[in-house]
Amino acid sequence: MSGNICVVGSLNVDLVATAPRIPVKGETILANSFAVRFGGKGANQAVACRKLGVQTSLLAKIGNDYYGRQAMEVLNGYSLDTTMITKTELAPTGLALIVVEVESGENIITVVSGANALFSPEDILLNKGAILCSSVCLLQLEIPLETVRKTIEIAKQNHVKIILNPAPFQFLDDEILGGVDILVPNLLELGSLISLHIPDGDEWDSNDQNEMAVVLDLVEKLERKFPNLALVITLGKRGCMVCPPLRENSHLETFLVEPYLSTHQVVDTTGAGDCFCGALAVGLLEYDNILEAVRFANIAAGISVTMQGTQESYPTREQVRNLLK
Ligand code: ATP
Repeated sequence: MSGNICVVGSLNVDLVATAPRIPVKGETILANSFAVRFGGKGANQAVACRKLGVQTSLLAKIGNDYYGRQAMEVLNGYSLDTTMITKTELAPTGLALIVVEVESGENIITVVSGANALFSPEDILLNKGAILCSSVCLLQLEIPLETVRKTIEIAKQNHVKIILNPAPFQFLDDEILGGVDILVPNLLELGSLISLHIPDGDEWDSNDQNEMAVVLDLVEKLERKFPNLALVITLGKRGCMVCPPLRENSHLETFLVEPYLSTHQVVDTTGAGDCFCGALAVGLLEYDNILEAVRFANIAAGISVTMQGTQESYPTREQVRNLLK
């Protein structure tokens, strides 16, 4: 496998409580346990790539504080290239408050952006060499949209493949969507995206019995507008769906979660989407074929939900390859 990956995104500290269930509005419940973990979508996706054996650099921004220093130590421990992570005195390192339900492993997350909100297009320009010399550039939306836009503009100059995970959802204009090669939304993000971009009266209802038929119909309309865009829709415990670019004339494909999971309990789905995106970038380097790359990602993310934690639960290349056989 040749090539390297540049991840441009957020870096957060996750304060994680494990509880009997997720509290409802106004309710206080007692947690079973608490842990401090290092995350942020950018950092998580970078760690996923690195643990799968690829040289990876992370472009991000932290505060000049205790959590920022701790996060750097953790990322360096994974041998990530952190030399392009910039520091600000104007905001604290980003923070995420997470509650994980013990039984189901489902979670709720609130993000305090902190330094991530100050990660600017100028920071990207300063470190553009890392983007230009990578094979795949991986982006999410926990940083300002203008920073995402600048990254795409630079990556395009050198035909670097761009994967965008539109999470948490923000409105994406046609310029951004038109610049992306592979978009990786979950169902909720896809719903927001489509209702904003296909204003023809189609209603999005994720409870619809014919949900998939509705999804497919809307995806087709989105792809007609962006014929070069590949869509990879993650479906949680149902796996994922791939819609290759229209111009490739290839078929939509669904990947169910692997049988492996029937013998391993799901314990924590936090960060499964990030594992999926990182592994997809690695899969593209390895196979240069989107369907095989997605299968690789689906297996990697499937393994990650059978272990506690976020970055800690991400698999090695060997673990994924063993299940690919
Ligand atoms: P998160 O925000 O928790 O990181 P997400 O909403 O971005 O997740 P999901 O669609 O929930 O993304 O999950 C991403 C991938 O992780 C799925 O496509 C699948 O491969 C794997 N996955 C998630 N949940 C499960 C599960 N319960 N069992 C097996 N695999 C799962």
